[in-house]
Amino acid sequence: MDNLGSNFIKDVMIKDLESGKHDKIITRFPPEPNGYLHIGHAKSIIINFGLADEFNGKTNLRFDDTNPLKEDVEYVNSIKEDVKWLGFEWDNLFFASDYFEEMYKRAVLLIKKGLAYVDDLSADEIREYRGTLTSPGKESPYRDRSIEENLDLFQRMRNGEFANGEKVLRAKIDMKSPNINLRDPVIYRISHATHHNTGDKWCIYPMYAFAHPLEDAIEDVTHSICTVEFEDQRPLYNWVVEQCEMASKPQQIEFGRLNVTNTVMSKRKLKQLVDEGFVDGWDDPRMPTISGMRRKGFTPESIRNFVRETGVSKGSGAVDSQMLEHFVREDLKLKAPRTMGILNPLKVVITNYPEGQIELLDAEINPEVPEMGMRKIPFSREIYIEKDDFMENPPAKYFRLFPGNEVRLKHAYFIKCEEVIKDINGEVVELRCTYDPLTKSGTGFTGRKVKGTIHWVEANNSVAAEFRLYEPLILDSTEEENAEEEKTFLDKVNPDSLVVLQGFVEPNMRESMPHDKFQFFRHGYFNVDPKHTTVDKLVFNRIVSLKSSFKI
Ligand code: ATP
Ligand code: MG
Repeated sequence: MDNLGSNFIKDVMIKDLESGKHDKIITRFPPEPNGYLHIGHAKSIIINFGLADEFNGKTNLRFDDTNPLKEDVEYVNSIKEDVKWLGFEWDNLFFASDYFEEMYKRAVLLIKKGLAYVDDLSADEIREYRGTLTSPGKESPYRDRSIEENLDLFQRMRNGEFANGEKVLRAKIDMKSPNINLRDPVIYRISHATHHNTGDKWCIYPMYAFAHPLEDAIEDVTHSICTVEFEDQRPLYNWVVEQCEMASKPQQIEFGRLNVTNTVMSKRKLKQLVDEGFVDGWDDPRMPTISGMRRKGFTPESIRNFVRETGVSKGSGAVDSQMLEHFVREDLKLKAPRTMGILNPLKVVITNYPEGQIELLDAEINPEVPEMGMRKIPFSREIYIEKDDFMENPPAKYFRLFPGNEVRLKHAYFIKCEEVIKDINGEVVELRCTYDPLTKSGTGFTGRKVKGTIHWVEANNSVAAEFRLYEPLILDSTEEENAEEEKTFLDKVNPDSLVVLQGFVEPNMRESMPHDKFQFFRHGYFNVDPKHTTVDKLVFNRIVSLKSSFKI
């Protein structure tokens, strides 16, 4: 698998192996199954699996499923599929919820050590008592309950004797700590909810800050890689591992999260786009989800190469979305067959071409890869060209078709526009052209030159196709993780992010299968859509156009 290059996390691993602190690297990718994975998760996957791989270590896929209200097996299944599709195999598959009993025991241990207490303050009061960055917190009046009382109350919390929010279990650390995370964080809450894995067995659930270090330690994870927002939680992470007397002592290491311009990247926001109907599901090709990108036509290689290029560092500026496009173009250049498709058809009748004759022309499948061989394209008296390739009154330097002008039809002949047919509204509906048999492509004709080359498909044998062209879903290119923007990102949804066109493709594409990828001459790379394609109609998603000014 692709190498990640040198980086500060790898340096820590090398040092730990050399010093004998560890003899094997164990990492984990720990998604919460409350949504589909996005391109940011791909970065975490590639770092966790990629680094462990480089040292012949192991990586667990662990579902961090400690919040029953938001989690679902649909998400569990999609996450497994996406990780595999990206090209990674986990060594073990774990669910944090399988450790609930063990976590409960560790919480009891904390109570017995006088390091945790049951608090009756409400969520609002707890927030108020917590203090701020500049003022210390205040101790809860319930902080000094006896160990016996705490053990009894915690057991009764588990037994279901209290309502949601009535009580919590808090770690007893330091209400005056300059690090707010250490001001007696809540470690268990009551939630009478059915869990996707444990059903109704539990009505108390551990909080992330308590559960996560325990999960890592239980699995003997050596390096617990997470994003920089968790830097301030590291002292709490270490406190939990230490005070719960875990045998393994994983090390938390933070890196900068991936952000991409013109997109939002938090499951909460992506879920909102789905729930409020801005997109057609989590796998809508406009979504930055792995399943959306797969449906649009991105390849695992292109995503891995992109992530590798963004590197591993502490910083987290937004990466230009064009960089992502660059990598898929690079990947498909030598893989995708070339073909022609008309997205917006205009009929052309070639008046001097024999009626009823069909000629099969030869064309390379991919001129950059001769081994891919040749294809046959039918040509006849009636063809379609793009509406855009004709102008009745063209500006200077317009080299495509206009009355009296001659252009080259790719792989075929020169044609000249002789007559324009319009409907009663004055709309151009057909062109009458003539062709010159001497100009056949591949014959080495040098008699005269034309400046424009356009594409076409034969009209009577072509295959109907729908083309879906995408623009960025979010109009603003600025970084999303910005507090003021929280409420307003829906205002920035691009109303024109999808354009659907009905046209035609070459007949040799009739048997195309979902996820087949093509480069359409002059239009870019397209993927056969797995959801909308039927036996009667091929539906193509444009992955990316052919050119961009973007340079890496
Ligand atoms: P979101 O904010 O999108 O809901 P999350 O961090 O809550 O993401 P988790 O399911 O908890 O989602 O994430 C699993 C792993 O993926 C975590 O280790 C997290 O740090 C990492 N991750 C999530 N988003 C990004 C990102 N944009 N860049 C890099 N890593 C990410
Ligand atoms: Mg999360």
